Amino acid sequence: MTEQIEAGVIGLGAMGAPMARHLANTGILKMVWNRTTAKAVSLAEETGAAVADSPAQLAAECNIVLTCVSADHDLLDVIGQILPAIQAGSVVVDTSTVSPVTARQIAADLSDAGCGLVDAPVSGGVEGARKGTLSVMAGGDSANISRIMPVLEAISATVTHMGPVGSGQATKAVNQVMIAGIAEAVCEALAFGEKLNLPSERLLSVVGAGAAGSWFLEHRGQSMLVGSFDVGFKLSLLLKDLLICRSLAQELDITLPTVDAAIRDYSALVDLGDGDHDISGLIRLKRGGD
Ligand code: NAP
Repeated sequence: MTEQIEAGVIGLGAMGAPMARHLANTGILKMVWNRTTAKAVSLAEETGAAVADSPAQLAAECNIVLTCVSADHDLLDVIGQILPAIQAGSVVVDTSTVSPVTARQIAADLSDAGCGLVDAPVSGGVEGARKGTLSVMAGGDSANISRIMPVLEAISATVTHMGPVGSGQATKAVNQVMIAGIAEAVCEALAFGEKLNLPSERLLSVVGAGAAGSWFLEHRGQSMLVGSFDVGFKLSLLLKDLLICRSLAQELDITLPTVDAAIRDYSALVDLGDGDHDISGLIRLKRGGD
């Protein structure tokens, strides 16, 4: 007999809210919780899901718990709240980007409570979350991944099982090195093009149609040129991811020069008070004196 999924979502930010909507559209969303309650109330009104009073209540009433919060300490805090209440046999699917170490620690704590973890960080941006076309990088055992597959299928175009718990987050770290490098190159190149007085619309279209085309250029090129840096992907969150990459590289005794450069740039932008800007806000630094 197939198990009836009763999913709960914790964290209704730029990524979590659209993911919750997709779960509602497939009929498996039971409950939501968000630290700022107004977001949970609004999503509940829209989808018909219930609003949990606490992460613990959500975990007590749902058999699959999807989390999407900002950083490692936020996830550890939420998991600490659900552990005393979670139903034995439940699976937590964490779509936040955190370190593999955190994923393994949480998996061990959940295992003590008779539950499983799949670390399932995602790529595809808020656009991918809205369209339900994310790419999921999953770490965990096959049985748990099979159980949560209806949840992952509702939010994604592709689910790839990368290995045991932590492998999803290790894969996401690799992804973020590429994201950072692409953003560095595109922002620097477009700022260079402006200094060369090239017509920006035509520049975007000609380079985007050739081998320099990328998701970032296609989705953020236009908004960068008009100086709009609304979220998107907060650059403070990319900085958090890059610090995870650097720490993994240090453990391996290797260097990631692209990551080091991006950490310098995004730290400077956070210091300027731009941490909530989309990562394309990097172009302001590349322009200089903006
Ligand atoms: P966001 O819009 O800033 O939302 C963050 C969410 O986490 C909010 O619901 C926030 O609650 C909640 N939260 C933060 N700290 C918390 C805590 N201590 N306890 C409980 N809830 C807490 O960020 P996002 O863009 O959705 O990103 C969420 C995760 O997905 C991050 O790990 C990010 O790196 C990753 N990610 C983002 C993107 C992207 O393009 N945006 C793409 C892939 C992966 P409040 O509403 O109360 O603030």
